[in-house]
Amino acid sequence: MSTVILKPEKEKSLLRRHPWIFSGAIQHVDGMLVSGETVDVLSSNRQFLARASFSPHSQIRARVWTFADQIVDKEFFRSRIRSAIQARQESNVERQSNAYRLIYAESDNLPGLIVDRYDDVFVLQSLTAGSEFWKETIADILIEEMGVSTIYERSDADVRELEGLEPKVGILRGNLSSFLFPVTEHGLKFKVNLQSGHKTGFYLDQRVNRLRVRELAKDKDVLDCFCYTGGFTVNALAGGAQSVLSVDSSADALALCKENTNLNDLDLNRQSSLEGDVFHLLRKFRDEGRTFDMIVLDPPKFAPTAAHAARAARGYKDINLLAFKLLRPGGVLVTFSCSGGVDADFFQKIIAGAALDAGVDAQILQYLAQAADHPVALNFPEGAYLKGLICLRK
Ligand code: SAH
Repeated sequence: MSTVILKPEKEKSLLRRHPWIFSGAIQHVDGMLVSGETVDVLSSNRQFLARASFSPHSQIRARVWTFADQIVDKEFFRSRIRSAIQARQESNVERQSNAYRLIYAESDNLPGLIVDRYDDVFVLQSLTAGSEFWKETIADILIEEMGVSTIYERSDADVRELEGLEPKVGILRGNLSSFLFPVTEHGLKFKVNLQSGHKTGFYLDQRVNRLRVRELAKDKDVLDCFCYTGGFTVNALAGGAQSVLSVDSSADALALCKENTNLNDLDLNRQSSLEGDVFHLLRKFRDEGRTFDMIVLDPPKFAPTAAHAARAARGYKDINLLAFKLLRPGGVLVTFSCSGGVDADFFQKIIAGAALDAGVDAQILQYLAQAADHPVALNFPEGAYLKGLICLRK
C-alpha cells in the first residue's frame, strides 16, 4: 500500500476526524500513485491515522475513507452505503417524497459521492478522484442493494476540474425512456429534468421549506424570486395564495415552472412569470411602488468558500433590503443562502442589516435549514450549507 506521511503537528485535524488532508500538510508520498488510489496516511512519527483516497491534482490531496485499519474494498463500500440507506429510513423521508438524497458525500462518510433517488432512477454524481476510482463498484452495489436498474451519471459539477476530472454525463446502468422525470413531493407533482436540471435535477434540500411556504401562503400575494422550476411557486399556489409572481433569469426554468403548476391542477390565472434579473426587477418593483405579502428569495450560491464571503454579503444584503421594502406590513420574507462561505450567524447579521437599512422592524419567526436527507456529520461542519430565515415585517 502506498503511504502519505504528514509533516509534524499536521495530524491534528485527522485526530478530530476531519476527513480532508491538504497538500501543505504532506511531508512525503511513498509509492507511484494513481489518481483516486487508496493510501495509508501516517503521522510524522509513522503512526497510522487513516486510509484515504489520493487526489494528485487537488489542494485537498487526500480524503479519508476510514480512520480504522480496515480494508477498503467492495464490502467496505457496501457497508457505508447500507448505513446511508438506514439513515434515510430513520428520517422517514420516503413518506414525504419519492425524490431524495440517498448519499451525501462527506456527511455519509463517502467523500465525493452524491446519489439522489428519483423514484426508481438513481442519479450519481462523482466529484473527486476517490469516488471516480470506485464509481463502477459503487454502481454495482446500488443495483444489488436497492434493486434499481437505472443509474444516470451527472458528474458535471465545476468542482471536478479541481480534481483534474473531465465532466461525465450519461447512462451508467440500465436505460431511461425520458429525461423529464416525474416525482411527487408532499403530494405535489414536479417534472425534473435529470439531464440538464441544476444539481441532479431538483433542489431536494428545500423540500421541508417548500412545505412551510405552502402552510404560510394562504390568501397572500407572493413573489417567488429565483423560482427555478417552481418548487416554491407550486407550493404557494397549493397553499391557497391569492397570486404568485415567479421570477427567474432562465426561460427554460420558467417554462417548467408553468408546466409544474399545470401538472397539479392549480389555478393558472393566479400565477404569472417574469424572465429577468432579480437584482434589477426588485429595483423596478420598488420604483413602481409594488408590494407583496410574501417574498421568497432563494438565490444561487454567491460564495462557494469563505474567500468570497464579503462580495456575497453585499449581494444578499442588496436583495433582502429591497425585499423588505416591497413587503407590506405583516408580510413575510422567506430568505435563503446556500453559500458554504456564509454561515448562519453571518447570514442573520446580513439580514438584520438589510432590515435596518430598509427602515423596517422585523422579527425571525423560524430558522430553516437543509432537509434531513442532507445530514451534517459532526466531524464535517462544512456539510451544513443551506440556511434560511422566515422573517415577519411588523
Ligand atoms: N427556489 C428553487 C431553486 C432556486 S435555484 C427551488 O426550490 O427549486 C436558483 C435559480 O436562480 C436558478 O433557476 C437560476 O436560473 C436563477 N438565477 C440565477 N441568477 C439569477 C438572477 N440574477 N436573476 C434571476 N434569476 C437568477
